[in-house]
Amino acid sequence: MKAVEVVESLQRRFPNEPEYIQAVSQVLETIEEEYNKHPEFERVNLIERLCIPDRIIKFRVNWVDDKGNIQTNMGYRVQHSNVIGPYKGGLRFHTSVNESILKFLAFEQTFKNSLTTLPMGGGKGGSDFSPRGKSNAEVMRFCQAFMSELWHYIGPDCDVPAGDIGVGGREVGYMFGQYKKLTHQFVGILTGKGQEFGGSLIRPEATGYGNVYFLQNMLKTRNIDLKGKTVLVSGSGNVAQYTIEKLLHLGAKPVTCSDSDGYIYDPDGINEEKLAYIMELKNIERGRIREYAEKYGVKYVPGAKPWFEKADIATPCATQNEINAEAATALINNGIIAVTKGANMPSTPEAVRIFQEAKVLYCPGKASNAGGVAVSGLEMTQNSERLKWDREEVDQKLHNIMDDIHENCVRYGTEPDGYVNYVKGANIAGFIKVAKAIMAQGI
Ligand code: GLU
Repeated sequence: MKAVEVVESLQRRFPNEPEYIQAVSQVLETIEEEYNKHPEFERVNLIERLCIPDRIIKFRVNWVDDKGNIQTNMGYRVQHSNVIGPYKGGLRFHTSVNESILKFLAFEQTFKNSLTTLPMGGGKGGSDFSPRGKSNAEVMRFCQAFMSELWHYIGPDCDVPAGDIGVGGREVGYMFGQYKKLTHQFVGILTGKGQEFGGSLIRPEATGYGNVYFLQNMLKTRNIDLKGKTVLVSGSGNVAQYTIEKLLHLGAKPVTCSDSDGYIYDPDGINEEKLAYIMELKNIERGRIREYAEKYGVKYVPGAKPWFEKADIATPCATQNEINAEAATALINNGIIAVTKGANMPSTPEAVRIFQEAKVLYCPGKASNAGGVAVSGLEMTQNSERLKWDREEVDQKLHNIMDDIHENCVRYGTEPDGYVNYVKGANIAGFIKVAKAIMAQGI
């Protein structure tokens, strides 16, 4: 297999899908050498079977807004691979959602889920509907309409969606209610559910906590302590919030966070009290991060990302491609030690190269943000067993999973000079398991 040729051929077949092609090409470049050690893979055209999703379900969603007008959005579910377990992955509700973005996310999810060590395949779905600016009743009607289409294609042993950008506990709750109404079954069909109806403890915290556990592991390889380190965080949703919370538990100093309008820089650090304000602002009042700057009298930079501020560590926790070459260069010039990702594919390919050439501790999102889906896997187990584990038990399991993922990245990604190429390590570790399962299951 020649990675460039496969990517070119996929590009010809799917010409308008830049994010999908970007994700595929990043993975293929790093697994090429390993793949070519196995002629049996090539004989069964494993590479195309790995890159092209099993199926894409696409539907129209009609819902009624508060004025009584009928609105129309698109809904999707990309079922990428179920060779190691039921399709599993979030639903994203955002105006930017399209087939290319969901295909990239479902592809990445397959490797991420493989890394978690749990039996979960990969999928992703969503809609170009945005809950932003909608009333609670509108969000509920949309979620019900969306599930009225999606329910045909999912099931606790078939495909188990969860949240992602724009889909939190509220949306999961409304979708769960609708699934139950349509099927008369109370089953673990979604993860990220409320604590009262089958949700797992630590699930809301999991992506952020896991991100910081992974960061700790990376720092440990160079005997660096997280305590006292300043951290640039982007985003201000669930992942950013619990990344900040865990950073605070471990004595680090987060100094920024952002939303799609701009970022705040707080030189004194975002402490517990300020974090509680962010949680209230974003989760309850659904406000903008600019209000933080007004409340605490700190700098607010509209229309920009925080990557040009000086700090020891950066952790993007928002969306894809928000660190470009210029931002990566600025981070390095400002002495960044580590970059860990709460988000999926937040760096452009040029930015990845710049970080790696500078030998910065740098990991891909599929490794460091796998904690969210890992605890989703634990939620599925608890649902199947019809019991609930306590906080400590889930947190310990999450911690162990993040340690295992890190160990696997080091195992497959350590280069001759000792530098750990986490991107390569994560991709190879994730790939080998999926490839073996494809081989074992025939055509
Ligand atoms: N959306 C999250 C992710 O990107 C979680 C998916 C899940 O829990 O199924 O991994």
